[in-house]
Amino acid sequence: RTLNAPPACAELLAAVARDCVDLLTDPAARAALRRCGGDTCRRLYLDTSRGHRRRWCSSEICGNRERVARHRRRAAALADGR
Ligand SMILES: [Zn+2]
Repeated sequence: RTLNAPPACAELLAAVARDCVDLLTDPAARAALRRCGGDTCRRLYLDTSRGHRRRWCSSEICGNRERVARHRRRAAALADGR
C-alpha cells in the first residue's frame, strides 16, 4: 500500500488490518497461505511461487538452515559408515 505521509501507529495498524481482511476474505489468497517448514520457525507466508512448491518463509534463512542440517546429517551418516 502507498501512504501519502509518514504514518502514525493507528494508520499503520489500519493498513495491516485492511491487508488481513483482504487476505482472509479472498479464497485464492487464503489458499496460498502456508506455514514455514523450518523446524523452529512459526512464520506464515503467501506462496506466490510458480508451481506453489515454496517450503520456507525465507530461502536465505530457514531454507539455508534446512540445507545445512541436511548436509550435516549426510556427513554424519557417511562418517558412521551408514
Ligand atoms: Zn521460516
